[in-house]
Amino acid sequence: MSDLKGKTVIITGGSRGIGRATAKAFAKEGANVVFTYNKSKDKAQELETELGANCLCLQLDISDYDGCRKVIEKTLEKFKKIDVLINNAGVTAAKALMMMTKEEWKEVIDTDLGGVFNMTRAAITTLLKQKSGSIVNISSVAGLVGLARQSHYSAAKAGIIGFSKALAREVAEYGIRVNVVCPGYIETDMVAGLREDIKKQILDYIPTKKFGKVDDVAQLCLFLASDKAGYMTGEVVKVDGGLAI
Ligand code: NDP
Repeated sequence: MSDLKGKTVIITGGSRGIGRATAKAFAKEGANVVFTYNKSKDKAQELETELGANCLCLQLDISDYDGCRKVIEKTLEKFKKIDVLINNAGVTAAKALMMMTKEEWKEVIDTDLGGVFNMTRAAITTLLKQKSGSIVNISSVAGLVGLARQSHYSAAKAGIIGFSKALAREVAEYGIRVNVVCPGYIETDMVAGLREDIKKQILDYIPTKKFGKVDDVAQLCLFLASDKAGYMTGEVVKVDGGLAI
C-alpha cells in the first residue's frame, strides 16, 4: 500500500499542465487532494468532478498573501492536517531585458517566487506543529542555467532554489523536508505557446531529442513527497532529458 494513502496534499496550479497531472497522480495513490486554479475555472471543475469526494478545489491567485492563508484554513477545515505542499503554479514570459517594464518584472517575480513564499509561509506553522511535512517546489532548468529573454523567470526560479535550501536547513529538525524539481521542456500549454522554429531548435539541443511529459514531473513529485525520499532534503532534481547536463 502506498504511504501517500490518506495523506493530505496541496497542489497550486492544478487546473492545467504539470499541476493537473500531479493532482491526478496523488489521487491515484489514495491521497486527499487540494488543488488550486486561478483563471481556468471550467478545467478545474472538470478535474474536481473526476477526483471525487477526497478532493477540494479552490480559486487562488498565488501572489495574494491573504488568499494563500485562506487556502490553508480551508484545507485544515476539511482534512485537519497538511502532509505535502507542492508549489507548482507559475507563469513565464519572454522579453529582452532592454524591453522589460518594471510591471512585467514584478508580475513574474511576485507570482513565481512570491507565490512560493506566500504558500509556504501560510503552511509552515501547521507543519511545524505537526512536526512533519514534505514541500516540493517546482523551479526550472531556467533557474540553473539562465535563459536569454527570461531574466525575470530565471531569477524567480533560481530564487526558489535558494529559498528551498535555506528552509530545508531551518526546518529539518522538525521532520519537514523541502526539495526542488527543475523540469526542462515539458509538453504543456507553456511549451505549446512557443514558435515551431524555436521548438525545433530546442529539440535539437535536448540530448534525448524529445520534450518531457507531464507525468515525468508528476512521478518525481510523488517520489519526493513520499517516505521513499525520507532522507532527502534540500535536494534539487532535474527532469529535463539531459538539457542542463
Ligand atoms: P501551465 O501554464 O500549463 O499551467 C500553469 C498553472 O499555474 C495553471 O494551473 C494556472 O492556473 C496556474 N497559475 C498561473 N498563474 C497563477 C497565479 N497567479 N495564481 C495561481 N495559479 C496560477 O504551466 P506548466 O504546467 O507548464 O508549469 C507548471 C510549473 O512548472 C510552473 O511553475 C512552471 O514555471 C514550471 N515549469 C514548466 C516547464 C514546462 O516546460 N512546461 C519547464 C520548467 C518549469 P489557471 O490556468 O487556472 O489560471
